[in-house]
Amino acid sequence: MRLLVLPGDGIGPEITSATQAVLRAASKRFDLGLEMDEHDVGHASLRQHGTTVRPELLDLARTADGVMLGPTATFDFKDEAKGQINPSKFFRKELDLFANVRPARTYPGMKSPVEDFDLVVVRENTEGFYADRNMEQGNGEILVTPDVVISLRRITRQCCERIAEAACALAARRRKRLTVVHKANVLKIGDGMFLDICRATVARYPGIEMDAVIVDAMMAHVVRHPSRYDVIVTTNMFGDILSDLTAELSGSLGLGGSLNAGATHAMAQAAHGSAPDIAGQDVANPFSLILSAVLLLDWHGERHQAARFGEAARAIETGITQAIAAGKATRDVGGTLGTAAVGEALAALIAN
Ligand code: NAD
Repeated sequence: MRLLVLPGDGIGPEITSATQAVLRAASKRFDLGLEMDEHDVGHASLRQHGTTVRPELLDLARTADGVMLGPTATFDFKDEAKGQINPSKFFRKELDLFANVRPARTYPGMKSPVEDFDLVVVRENTEGFYADRNMEQGNGEILVTPDVVISLRRITRQCCERIAEAACALAARRRKRLTVVHKANVLKIGDGMFLDICRATVARYPGIEMDAVIVDAMMAHVVRHPSRYDVIVTTNMFGDILSDLTAELSGSLGLGGSLNAGATHAMAQAAHGSAPDIAGQDVANPFSLILSAVLLLDWHGERHQAARFGEAARAIETGITQAIAAGKATRDVGGTLGTAAVGEALAALIAN
């Protein structure tokens, strides 16, 4: 398995390095033949190459078996004409990674503000309100006058159909419950179409139970009773926001793993940002990116019908559960170790 590894900004290099240690141990034990090809993106690339993402990285991503992207300082990147491209958008758009799969669950032995739960947010990843990716050319935000901005939201039948399909397929493999989160009471046409398509898709999956919840009410419902939810499907921005909430409810944003998946490519990427407030302090939780890598191993194993990737993924997941219970984790999840030590401890657990 050949991985393109892009550590990114802020805590990106720290959590990437810890994730690589774990992946190396898993590769050795489960004979994954893992090769990791590392390149800069974000500020380091901007300084060295004048752009946050070199175009040749796209070819490397296309020919690799998967991409692992660390968080980048996207808020700093204001002007694409000056090479300040959002790397996350670049790969999601260019590789058509339409499904952003973001699991969240509680862990035994860890204090959580809510009841135990295990759910997955499936977020549309290529259109919606995301102005830097929802147009073929140009940008979906327009400055009409210095005081007037129009932000365009694109919703297409094709993107609704494929994300609904991905969510149903996942629900069919889990507890067979799908919750559609929408704002069709206000965005009557766009979210109305999204909701109708979700209903029609579920109808082709006998055994899946569906409910629909308006996005604002969902914030209250998921805090009150997260255990009610299994798979949650929603449009891009709602999914972005909701999945930070579900990650934090699970104990920490530092547990938020995610996979960006398309028909032929996938990219592991933590759900959170570059966390400049804790960068360089060896305190960032690497489990977010490690859990993202777990999703990528599963994706690759399923595509190639190679069970050892799934076995490696389960071993890493079990290791994380044990590490949290034993306090061999970062402080945000009740542990006492630094980022690098967490990676080393988990790698040692997997090696044995
Ligand atoms: P953030 O997600 O980086 O951080 C929010 C809070 O969560 C902070 O208190 C941070 O310390 C904490 N946190 C995040 N990851 C953690 C981890 N692994 N372990 C422990 N604590 C963790 O959000 P922000 O501060 O609003 O954004 C910082 C930068 O990241 C901005 O430039 C933003 O645009 C960018 N961003 C990038 C991505 C991405 O690359 N996918 C996603 C979101 C935000």
